[in-house]
Formats: sequence, C-alpha cells, structure tokens
Amino acid sequence: MTAPPEGVKAGHPLARFTTVRTGGAADWFAHPRDVEGLVSVLRWAGSEDLAVGVIGSGSNLLVADAGFRGLALKLGGSLATIERDGDRILCGGGARLPSAAAKTAGWGLSGLEFGVNIPGTAGGAVRMNANAYGGQLARALEWVDVATAAGVERRAPGDLGFEYRRSNLREGEVVALASFRLEPADPEAIKATLASMRDRRREAQPSGIKTFGSTFKNPGDERAEGRSAGQLLEAAGCRGLRHGGARFSEKHANFVENMGEATTADVLELMAEGRRRVHERFGVALEPEVQVLGEVRWPDGWDL
Ligand SMILES: Cc1cc2nc3c(=O)[nH]c(=O)nc-3n(C[C@H](O)[C@H](O)[C@H](O)COP(=O)(O)OP(=O)(O)OC[C@H]3O[C@@H](n4cnc5c(N)ncnc54)[C@H](O)[C@@H]3O)c2cc1C
Repeated sequence: MTAPPEGVKAGHPLARFTTVRTGGAADWFAHPRDVEGLVSVLRWAGSEDLAVGVIGSGSNLLVADAGFRGLALKLGGSLATIERDGDRILCGGGARLPSAAAKTAGWGLSGLEFGVNIPGTAGGAVRMNANAYGGQLARALEWVDVATAAGVERRAPGDLGFEYRRSNLREGEVVALASFRLEPADPEAIKATLASMRDRRREAQPSGIKTFGSTFKNPGDERAEGRSAGQLLEAAGCRGLRHGGARFSEKHANFVENMGEATTADVLELMAEGRRRVHERFGVALEPEVQVLGEVRWPDGWDL
C-alpha cells in the first residue's frame, strides 16, 4: 500500500459523526478542506481500490457496528462554507442546510426555506434529494460540482436523476460545491416563514433525541392508501416499540431513537420488526430511507 496523503488517519471512530451515535470505526478517515485535497484523497483511495464513504451531518446515516472497510470523508474548510454571489449562493458540499436557510433569509433571498428543518449538509441533501413542506431542492439548485478521483465535473439538476429521496450519485462521487439560484424577497417575511416552519416541526417531531430522522420512505404501494410510513408503523403498534437500546419514538413512529446505549444491530432489529409488522397488517413492504455505511447483516426475517 502506498502511504496515504497527509492528514489521512487510520482507524477512526465514526459514531460521533452521526446523529444516532452508533456504529464502529472507518479503516481510513480524511477531513479534506479544499477541492485539491479532496481529489487527492479520492485519487489515493482509487489507487488502493478502497471504498469511499462521505459523511455529511450523518443525519440519515447508520454506520455498521463492525465499521467501514474503506476511506470515510468529512468535508471541512472551503468545502463547508456558504457564500453569496448576487442572487445565487454557493454552498460547500459540507455546508449545513439550516445555516444556509438562516443566512439566505438574512440576505433577503428566498428559495432555501425548506432547509431550515433538515439537519443535513448541502451535499447530503443533493445525494438524498431532501425535501420538506413541498419545497423542492431541484427548483433552487443551479448546478453541483462533483469530485471524483478523476477531478471535478459540473452537473445540472437534470443530470442528477432526482427521484423521491434519491439521486444517481454513485459511491466515490462527492458533492464538493452546490450553487442555488434564489429570488430576492423581504428578509422579515422569509424569517417569519422559517419561524412558522420550525414551530410546525416542533409539534410534529421529537427534538433533542439521537435519531436519523425518517427510517423508512413513504410507500408508493396502493395498499398503503396514501398513509405515510410513520402512520403505517403507528397503526401496526410500533410507536414506543423497543429493541435493546433503540426504540421507535413515542412522538413519531418513523423515527428511531437511540436511548443511550443502542448499537446499529439494535436499530436494524427494530427496523426489521417494524417492517414485518407493517407487512403483516397491510401487505406493504417498507423500504429504508436511512443510508448504511459499511457491511451490515440484515436481521432474519428482513426479507418478507
Ligand atoms: C430530526 C431530523 C429531521 C429530518 N427531516 C428531514 C426532512 O424534513 N426532509 C428530508 O428530506 N430529510 C430529513 N432528514 C434526513 C436528513 O437530514 C436528510 O436526508 C439529509 O439530506 C442528509 O444529509 P447529511 O448531510 O446528514 O447526509 P448523511 O446522513 O451524512 O449521508 C446521507 C447520504 O448522503 C451521502 N452524502 C453526504 N454528503 C455527501 C456529499 N457531499 N456528496 C455525496 N454524497 C454525500 C452519504 O454518503 C449518504 O449516502 C431529517 C433527519 C433528522 C435527524
């Protein structure tokens, strides 16, 4: 193996980079602070045939208890800044979406309000096609710079294959920079919108808990009769259901909570039980929204 670029660390714990706080260590970890540094570590990973995993805010991410056999990346420095350029804002892939929503409100620019309650990064939001209250990421997004071992390539939203909670970004493709084209508006009106969105969210979802947000995607299956994953889980008796240190939240059944000592295996067992109950009751097979980093063993009974 060739020596890793400067700053690449061996055996780095990842749990604290996720909002649910479970999982093991990455064999390799880097915290690139500019595009050159990012491409350089991607090139090294490519030359060593290492898998690459990017961690944004870890707000929809489950790390395997056995960790990740590859290079985990967390973007920093100029890859996490938010800058204004007229009616456009440039967000590093690692920039936090709620900060971008608050900053743009102050600048009197409208279009990113939906990000106020999404505790992820611009890169994670693009990868996941994040959305809330009907605000569409793709509507405001102008382009993204995607870094790979081969360099940086600019892509338009139409090239990102956006579907419900997914894009076509592949492993090793890292959103380094995202440009959003926004509309001038009254800062006070935007701030009022953000405040009301925060209030609505506080009523509907638990706060201050260790969770990765939506566990399962809302199903398109007609047997769900338009009900969300949370409504189906609740009707199937999953609200408050526990396995080890994990439970489905009392307030929102599609949120798994780490009550303190949960492992990723506990979370997977709980997910399998929730999925089994919903399938038994409604015939609907829920699919995970949460992304997994590392190899996990899905519990027996996961395949319905
Ligand atoms: C309390 C709570 C509320 C939430 N509410 C919402 C909501 O309303 N709407 C919604 O859509 N989601 C919601 N989420 C889920 C989550 O915040 C979003 O999916 C968010 O977009 C994930 O971004 P992240 O930076 O945390 O990505 P992570 O969770 O770190 O990663 C998710 C995926 O994105 C990839 N990724 C991360 N950064 C990059 C990058 N720079 N380039 C390429 N790939 C990258 C990761 O490799 C992984 O596959 C919520 C989560 C929580 C905890």
